[in-house]
Amino acid sequence: MCLKPMGEAAEDQFAEGSDNFMKKACLAGWLCGFWLLLALWPTGVSAVEGPSAESRHVAKAGAMPFNPRYLYPSSAEQFSMDWLTLPEERIMALTFDDGPDERDLAIASLLDRQDIPAAFFYIGNKIKAMPHIVKEMSATRHELGYHSYRHQQLSWLSAKSLTADFRQGKEVFGQLGLSFTWFRPPYGDFNRRVVQEAKDQGMETILWTIDSRDWAGVPAQVMARNVIRRFHPGAVILFHSTHANTLRALPEILQAAVRERYRFVSLAEWRRTVQMAACRVQGRGCPPAPVEVVTPVTPSVPEEGKLVPVSASVPIEGRVMPASAVPLLPSTVIRFMPDG
Ligand SMILES: [Zn+2]
Repeated sequence: MCLKPMGEAAEDQFAEGSDNFMKKACLAGWLCGFWLLLALWPTGVSAVEGPSAESRHVAKAGAMPFNPRYLYPSSAEQFSMDWLTLPEERIMALTFDDGPDERDLAIASLLDRQDIPAAFFYIGNKIKAMPHIVKEMSATRHELGYHSYRHQQLSWLSAKSLTADFRQGKEVFGQLGLSFTWFRPPYGDFNRRVVQEAKDQGMETILWTIDSRDWAGVPAQVMARNVIRRFHPGAVILFHSTHANTLRALPEILQAAVRERYRFVSLAEWRRTVQMAACRVQGRGCPPAPVEVVTPVTPSVPEEGKLVPVSASVPIEGRVMPASAVPLLPSTVIRFMPDG
């Protein structure tokens, strides 16, 4: 209320004090309103550090049932588990976050013995601190993805800070002659801006469908049991190479997968399979699937006096395409579910 009090009470000292108080309160109110108006005035520039007004999602660790739309948010298609329904698509992908870590090498060695690929998501400032691990891992068959520079909740960052984070990560990784294809937001926290920024920087955003909960310090046997009973076609399983129990739980998980006729694939193959399944389920015209085969061709290219076979790419009907030949699904539009 900002009207002068009515009646003769103004002569009363108390009333006079009250009047002064009201004047000050009114002034303060107007000032507050003015600043509030300025703060809310649409400027078109978002420089505020904090949770954005956009839909923000946290793929809560172990949250069930899992919303499949959280799995591959940079896909323009609404991801559906129905895409993965055929027996030959009993594929799963293993992913390990928070490296580089000394344990990556032990995990890679265990997987290599069984010819199993995996993806390791690396934190920028740890890449800088442990380039030797990254170099060793890059020489293996495993994929290396980005996991932010400082392991922050990226949806809280301003547009400027977000871009800076990706650039820093790419730079430190690029110094080792490497580049990222995949991105996983720390804590599964992402919004439209985060996914778009990753895409602008050349990365697809991938989350997970099964959380091993290794981060919670669960014993190896419990971890293995929890993961195994959640196996499903198309699963992307989340681990952290920074926990000792992860490595201990892996042999039992790998054995169970073989027993249940699952096959572990790289994220590249996972994406190809998902896209082909999507195309089939949605009844779109699926592209022919060439596969790269190595065929000795004569005459060969002479090199230091020797004959060297030349590889050739030959399309073969009904086979999986090599990654480079797979057209990505259109991804200019990203749709999100409301918060919840
Ligand atoms: Zn992480």
